[in-house]
Amino acid sequence: MAIASTNPATGETVKTFEPLTDEQIEEKIQRAADTFRQWRRTGFEERKEKMLRAAEILEDEAEELGRIATLEMGKTYASAVAEVQKCARGCRFYAENAERFLADERIEDLQQDGATAYVRYEPLGPTLEIMPWNFPYWQVFRHAAPGLMAGNVALLKHASNVPQVALAIEDVFLRAGFPEGAFQTLLIGSDKVKAIIEDERIRAATLTGSEPAGRMVAAQAGENIKPTVLELGGSDPFIVMPSADFEKAVETAVASRTLNNGQSCVNAKRIIVHEEIADEFTRRLVEKMEALKVGDPMDEATEIGPLSTPDGVEEVADQVRRSVEAGAKLLTGGERPEGPGNFYPPTVLAEIPEDAPARYEEIFGPVASVYRVSSVDEAIELANDSPFGLSSSVWTADEGERERFVEEIEAGMVYVNKMTESTPEVPFGGAKNSGYGRELSRFGIQEFTNAKMVWVQ
Ligand code: NDP
Repeated sequence: MAIASTNPATGETVKTFEPLTDEQIEEKIQRAADTFRQWRRTGFEERKEKMLRAAEILEDEAEELGRIATLEMGKTYASAVAEVQKCARGCRFYAENAERFLADERIEDLQQDGATAYVRYEPLGPTLEIMPWNFPYWQVFRHAAPGLMAGNVALLKHASNVPQVALAIEDVFLRAGFPEGAFQTLLIGSDKVKAIIEDERIRAATLTGSEPAGRMVAAQAGENIKPTVLELGGSDPFIVMPSADFEKAVETAVASRTLNNGQSCVNAKRIIVHEEIADEFTRRLVEKMEALKVGDPMDEATEIGPLSTPDGVEEVADQVRRSVEAGAKLLTGGERPEGPGNFYPPTVLAEIPEDAPARYEEIFGPVASVYRVSSVDEAIELANDSPFGLSSSVWTADEGERERFVEEIEAGMVYVNKMTESTPEVPFGGAKNSGYGRELSRFGIQEFTNAKMVWVQ
């Protein structure tokens, strides 16, 4: 894919970029390796000061930075500004807490006379971050902030359709006072990734994106015995039981399914409703999806902007078309509007047969799939009948039901009476084909460290 900035609302390519040459890539890797040797020796106070400065820049410039994201990948301007502000929170969170999360841990279990043992968390080195376009700031900061605070340095290979965001992030870190090699953007296509992973100066890699890309990167890193964290797709269940707060559940189902124009790994993609309330719930869901205002993402009134790329909207349209051909019922939407831009209407599918794409594939657009179940058992079985296992959201006021969902849903996260949210304080990550490893919280910062055991006799 060409590295270019194309406005998804108009289809106009506003800027194209030459990918880095092999010599330029080499120079940046060497700079990362050189910087790491210095950066790993800095103290938490110095790192904290720079990270807090990065947070200030993000806060001060949230509107301008948000605008770049909206014009590159189509998310609504309000949500883009909020995303930048969240990055500032992430920076502050790790600035304030990294030292505590990475403090030496004494091994209390050791019972040998005169011996003590402890674990110290040391940085791994230059890390390759392969990131997607859907939350073009947050996906990067939620890895870069803990990484830099832990003493690692980063090389970012961002998605090819968000080069201006990628460069803006590098600029934020530079202006915050981080040394030049601490965080570098590599404007490269994915064909250059393998050689970078193989380079012995690169010590770890992380990828957020699709399952096929995750498989490739994990295989290449595995071949080279380098740790990875993968945050891949999801087809999250959103289960609603009769005891739930009906209004809140229906409202949240719509918000969660259409967040980021329906392009989030943790959108509520499969809405599983108990039959006692299913008819009314579906009616209200359709009503609310139809009421959403689709349009120019820079317009304040817009709730759903265009999808990020022409390929993305094609794929969603094709998945819906094939699902309907397989027998799914289209309750609303499903027709692409005429005119420029990658627009796709809020869509609801029901009565989805087992062989329909909506059942097993991740649909990256504002398409809700509704399922009807008659019991907790059936809800859990359906929730788990997916290759993915990222997050889940369950709606019930019944303690017994809640315990069963918490215990039996095969996913990295369970939210009870709340939509899934990626926030600095709690760990984020999946099970099954949604990936492995954790981001955020103390788990996220410890992922890319060497837990070095020290035994003193
Ligand atoms: P990709 O997985 O293709 O892209 C994510 C990142 O991986 C980009 O930086 C991309 O670079 C890079 N990449 C792609 N292929 C490789 C490879 N073989 N080796 C190394 N790096 C690679 O996602 P898409 O943008 O194509 O979206 C496709 C689908 O992926 C979506 O419809 C959605 O289902 C899922 N997805 C999930 C996300 C999530 O948050 N979990 C985020 C984005 C997508 P480049 O842009 O240069 O190809």
